Amino acid sequence: MDPISPLEQTLHAARALVLADLVAGEVAEADVVSLVEDSVTQRRWWVEQWPDGAGYVAGLVAQDVQDALLERYGRWPLCPVCGSGDPHALDVEPELGPDPHWVCHKAGVKVAAVGALGRATGGTPSS
Ligand SMILES: [Zn+2]
Repeated sequence: MDPISPLEQTLHAARALVLADLVAGEVAEADVVSLVEDSVTQRRWWVEQWPDGAGYVAGLVAQDVQDALLERYGRWPLCPVCGSGDPHALDVEPELGPDPHWVCHKAGVKVAAVGALGRATGGTPSS
């Protein structure tokens, strides 16, 4: 087999990060996973046209999935920081850049890196 190209590694990593966040939000159902696959397919084309954008793919896939979920499922990921007020979704920052994070604009905080939402939203500490 051929070695896995850097492009495929980038796409694979982006897919894994976004899936991890979907699992954290307990929305990683089969039809949702297919949204991730759709986005990765589109971004493969995109990054082939613009290889310098490889570092931006994870943030773009996260935003693609967020947009697709908004139509089918609702807001995702819900902000885990603000305890009161209207439920609202986190945003990816930078929209087009490396090292994407989920941020809450209401509280003005970085919540977690894309792919690390599970650690920010709690769950049971494994101590
Ligand atoms: Zn918030």
